[in-house]
This record gives sequence, C-alpha cells and structure tokens, in this order.
Amino acid sequence: MFPGVKSVVNTFFGAPIDPTPATFVVTGVPFDKTSTYRQGSKKGPAAIRTASQHIESYCLQEYLDIDASKLPIADIGDINFDAESVSGMLKAVESVVSQLNHQDKVPILLGGEHTLTLGAVRALPRDIVLVQFDAHMDLRDRYNDLEFSHACVQRRIVEQLGPDHLIQIGVRAVAKDEYEYAEKHNIVFYTSEDIKKEGATAIARRINDAIPPGPPVYISVDMDVLDPAYAPGVGNPEAAGITTSELLSILRVITPRATIFDVNEVTPQYDQGITAICAAKIITSFLCIQAKRHNLTSPSD
Ligand code: MN
Ligand code: MN
Repeated sequence: MFPGVKSVVNTFFGAPIDPTPATFVVTGVPFDKTSTYRQGSKKGPAAIRTASQHIESYCLQEYLDIDASKLPIADIGDINFDAESVSGMLKAVESVVSQLNHQDKVPILLGGEHTLTLGAVRALPRDIVLVQFDAHMDLRDRYNDLEFSHACVQRRIVEQLGPDHLIQIGVRAVAKDEYEYAEKHNIVFYTSEDIKKEGATAIARRINDAIPPGPPVYISVDMDVLDPAYAPGVGNPEAAGITTSELLSILRVITPRATIFDVNEVTPQYDQGITAICAAKIITSFLCIQAKRHNLTSPSD
C-alpha cells in the first residue's frame, strides 16, 4: 500500500495499515548488519509490535485514551531493503521518511540498529535538531573499517548537519577520540551521572533550553541509554545507566516539540521481552504527549 514497505500482520498497537488519514506513521527497520557484540536487533520491530498489543491505551499522565481507534495512527509495516547493504538500508529509510515528511506525518521508526537514524536525517530539513538518548556517543570516525555503522552514525550526522544540531543524553561509554571530537566541536551532552546528580526534571529543562527555538526536533532513543537492569535486550549493554522513569520524565518535557521519533537497538533474544515492552511503553508515552499537545484524539464515547 505504501511505496517501499512491506505490511505486517501484527501492527503496532493494532493500528491500521493505511497511512492516508494518519498523523503518526509507524514503520520498522529490521536491520542489524553492522551490529557488533550482540546481533539480533533486526528482530526488534516485531518484538516491539508484539509488546505493544498488551499496553493499556489509557494514559494516566495526560488523562487521555490513545486507543488506535481514537488516535490518527497507522503502521505501514517494515521498510524494504537488502539486509546485507548499509547504503541500501539508508537509501530505503531516506525514501520512506521523505515521503512521510512531505505528507506532514510524524514518522515513528522501530529499529533495528541505530544506523537507521542517518537515513531518516537525510530526508529531513537541514535545520533539524537531533536529541539522542544513548549510553554511547556513536561519534567514531570508523569502526571495524566501516564508515557507516551503529558506532559512527552520529559522526556522519554531525558532518551533515553541524555539531550544534546534536544533543546527547545518558552518555557513559566513549572512546577517547570520540570524546575529544565532541569536546572540540562543542557538542552538548549530558552523562547518566549528570542525570543522577541533578535529577531528570532539571536536566530536561536544560535540554529544552539547549534546543534552539524554531527548528523541528528529532528524538532518537537507543535503548541502551537505560541501565541493563531495565533494558537488558540490547546489542551493547552498558552498566550504570538511567532508569525508565528518568527517561520518561525527560521525554515528557521535550516530546511536544518532536516531529519524528525512533526507538532502536532492541535485541529481543537477550531477555524475556523486557526491553521490547519498555520500548512499546516509551512509544505510547510519546504518542500520548503528542496527541494531547496537538489535540489529536477523537472524543470518548
Ligand atoms: Mn547508538
Ligand atoms: Mn548505544
């Protein structure tokens, strides 16, 4: 139905597949070719969709019912690409996100490895600000001889948009050269330790202040930003992360400004569904805040 995608039977939140009347359009990117350490994030989109079927649709935080019958949401399925080709995946993601962007939709991408974010950024206006939640900076110039990989994705994005278009949150695992790159280019980042010390709400306000007024905002959540206690099913788990509640508190403050959202790196075979359930909760929280902000639910019966 939508060019460049293959529809799935079990859609996110039971949403319809036709994007025509929808504002929020979910699509999966089941790609993990460049994953290192623990592969399997290509199974992330399906696991998140399964978990979403069991999330309650009433949002206590906004007193709002976001049942798929009340919310303008669609799940068009997974993006088509050659599973062996990073450049092919990037082009395919760019094409689908470009179409959605031109139709004024809010894309919600389900990863798959974090590399997908570069494909999406290529489809968007150059003034976009990327807010990245991640244990890692992903700012390496090369990793395993690859220029395009989950460990280099933000470096390629900074080269495209400029360093003042990236804000990183939850950082705690870096290589010396990427840390020096971030310092040299004045990239704004907050460590997981900053969040523990100052509190999620205070950090959220600082992030909001750091985002310039005007440009669209892209929120990208690498699930390894969470402590492995909350999200063990990721490709590169890193101890001493933030809690799910801290992540949701920060997202609550910045989500109203977002025009695109992705949740990536869910690697479901490493847990009992915990990380996929957590990802589905994060996405429904995003939907709830956006629906409230844009007055997008139909009245309750
Ligand atoms: Mn990442
Ligand atoms: Mn990461």
